[in-house]
Amino acid sequence: MFTKSINQDYVRSIVFGFQDALVSTTGIVVGISAAVNNRNYILLTAAVTIIIEALSMAAGQYLSEKSVHDLPKSNHQDDLFIGSILMFLSYIIGGIIPVIPFLFSFSTWTPVLSVISSFAGLFILGYLKDKLFIKKSNHGSIEMLIVGGITVLIGLLIGSLF
Ligand SMILES: [Zn+2]
Repeated sequence: MFTKSINQDYVRSIVFGFQDALVSTTGIVVGISAAVNNRNYILLTAAVTIIIEALSMAAGQYLSEKSVHDLPKSNHQDDLFIGSILMFLSYIIGGIIPVIPFLFSFSTWTPVLSVISSFAGLFILGYLKDKLFIKKSNHGSIEMLIVGGITVLIGLLIGSLF
């Protein structure tokens, strides 16, 4: 299985991209839905933001990883391009999850469903991360849910102040 020998830098790209997309996109769609009562506008803004963020994260992944690879004593074996692609795809997939409720409904409950979707995504991400990469019970799902969930809630709290 590839997961037995997956490079640690790829794991970091996947987990980072997925987690960041879940948290950021939830803040965006819930924040906009509080201000704008127009589903198409919310979906369009979410789509544009996810794509730009995914590109930005992929570029950031490439440049930050390259900085490490360029260090005199670096022993990294990962491919910079593959790491960037994994970051991009993880961000796109993670970003879509909090948007899904807005595709099927548009009521006062939709933002709540979006937050629940995000929490479920964080939990599943933590579970799969343990299952695929760490191969033992590691409480990754709870950890991801708590750290990511608190970030989402703080973001929404700050957003509600404006
Ligand atoms: Zn590397």
